[in-house]
Amino acid sequence: MARKTKWVIFDADNTLWDVESLYNSARNSFCKYALEAINSAGENKAGHVTLELLEKAQHQRDIQLYKTYGYSSARFARSFEDTLLFFMPYAAQDAIIHVRYLAQNTFDQRPHLADNLETILSQLAEAYSLAIITAGEKWVQEKRIAEFHLRDKFKEILVVERKTAQVFRNFCVEHGIPAECCWVVGDSVRSDIRPAIDAGLKAIHIQATNWAVEHEPLPLGVESVTVLNEIVELLLD
Ligand SMILES: [Mg+2]
Repeated sequence: MARKTKWVIFDADNTLWDVESLYNSARNSFCKYALEAINSAGENKAGHVTLELLEKAQHQRDIQLYKTYGYSSARFARSFEDTLLFFMPYAAQDAIIHVRYLAQNTFDQRPHLADNLETILSQLAEAYSLAIITAGEKWVQEKRIAEFHLRDKFKEILVVERKTAQVFRNFCVEHGIPAECCWVVGDSVRSDIRPAIDAGLKAIHIQATNWAVEHEPLPLGVESVTVLNEIVELLLD
């Protein structure tokens, strides 16, 4: 079989699989638990603390912590703990342990795969070599990949600390392929699309719900699709 010289490099989180709903569900559980704890301790007599306020506070704390913790599982647990302590400075030890557990439990769960993923990958594999480049805490990414039953469809899977233009340039050099023969598919303009375009690769943006730190305007001329399925038509025209 002839070696395929065109590549599609996928992002993983919120592209091949949906992790956002795991984080959202943990956040909902945290807010409910925290509100109940604050109410039962009699610390919300004026009723100022609501689920919405707790959610907003957790989001804000998580973004602050990102500056020091980056994409780490420790950051998410810390954001729950700090949010609880902000509203309830003398929270019992058990409550702190429980909210940390709610966050950590997210990383034990398997994310849902994108709809129709197996067919999408099989169709693309007819014309392209497939790869994954994913950024994030190493053990979390490796665990998600180890549990991913379609991982053998990819010729290369890389876990990196951060996706930069240099990461994509190195990938092309190592595989002896011109940058313009590579497509990058991902949900984050900041981590997938921008560095890919800067390195001379082509990119398709997936409009998945993702974290606010990933948000920035889409570069001109980049296609943006609502579901992964739509990339097949774009790449196999
Ligand atoms: Mg992503």
